[in-house]
Amino acid sequence: MAMAQHMKLDEAIDTLKKSGVRITPQRHAVLEYLIQSMSHPTADEIYKSLEGKFPNMSVATVYNNLRVFKEVGLVKELTYGDASSRFDCITTDHYHIICKPCGKIVDFHYPGLDEVETLAEQVTGFHVSDHRMEIYGICPSCKKNEAHH
Ligand SMILES: [Zn+2]
Ligand SMILES: [Zn+2]
Repeated sequence: MAMAQHMKLDEAIDTLKKSGVRITPQRHAVLEYLIQSMSHPTADEIYKSLEGKFPNMSVATVYNNLRVFKEVGLVKELTYGDASSRFDCITTDHYHIICKPCGKIVDFHYPGLDEVETLAEQVTGFHVSDHRMEIYGICPSCKKNEAHH
């Protein structure tokens, strides 16, 4: 399993160009924000941090761009059963640990659980395409806040 690697803006732009996607200033900004942010932002968070720079931009524009990035494989959408999908621009395999009180998602790297996939295939007869593992807990800053109560 290859080491997870953070995508670079240049490479991402290159991928878009090769896929025939036009690079508008807004699209560029959304992509840049995604790559620089390690926080798995929602479309709303991206919109709020860019609206000052692009007064004409709407949340729909952000969603549109995210959909384009998803189609060419630049981002992964993490759905949590509600409207607030989060977007992750690191598409190599990694796992997530999620803070229950504040919802923060942090990446961590661990060798892919290939044996589990193989076992699941053997036991169920399914063809396994991928898997998702999430660890839950309380992040350091929430832990600190709790201690002050
Ligand atoms: Zn937290
Ligand atoms: Zn991630």
